[in-house]
Amino acid sequence: MPPPSNARSRRAVTAYVALGANLGDRRANLEAALGLLAELPRLRLLRVSAFFDTAPVGKTDQPRFLNAVARVETGLPPRRLLRALQIIEDRLGRRRDEHWGPRTLDLDLLLYGDRVVNEPDLVVPHPRMHERAFVLEPLVQIAPDARHPLLKTTAAELLHRLQRR
Ligand code: ADP
Ligand code: MG
Repeated sequence: MPPPSNARSRRAVTAYVALGANLGDRRANLEAALGLLAELPRLRLLRVSAFFDTAPVGKTDQPRFLNAVARVETGLPPRRLLRALQIIEDRLGRRRDEHWGPRTLDLDLLLYGDRVVNEPDLVVPHPRMHERAFVLEPLVQIAPDARHPLLKTTAAELLHRLQRR
């Protein structure tokens, strides 16, 4: 007899979450965020990249960042996952008033399986991930073959293209 089907594992999707911090104890902030991520219901933390020390992009007059990417397997739908990420940001003291400004913690949903989401407050794949070495380098470290469903190529190839620009 086949094993009983498990609705949760059947729907589980592999997703990638980017973490960034440039205020306070950056390493402690990322580790605390990973701890809270791992405690979410219907989510398993599968793998975490090294922590990369990076220069700020965009608004450059702010402290350097520590960035990482985590691979998770989750049964949470995309907006539920985003909501959970925002609650973790809030719990770790993120102030939401300065877009692209310094933050104790930034959590972005990069990829959610091969799903494409285009809503006012959630865009997946993350619309700037392919332009950001601080996202692609840690992503490639743990998942060089992760596919971007719109650009139809791998994380490794996206990083390669960015570095050749
Ligand atoms: P950034 O991460 O680009 O520096 P913010 O973190 O300040 O910008 O932006 C947060 C906003 O981005 C939230 O209001 C959220 O709804 C929206 N958003 C849209 N798509 C995503 C995504 N894939 N991951 C995280 N936030 C997203
Ligand atoms: Mg963000």
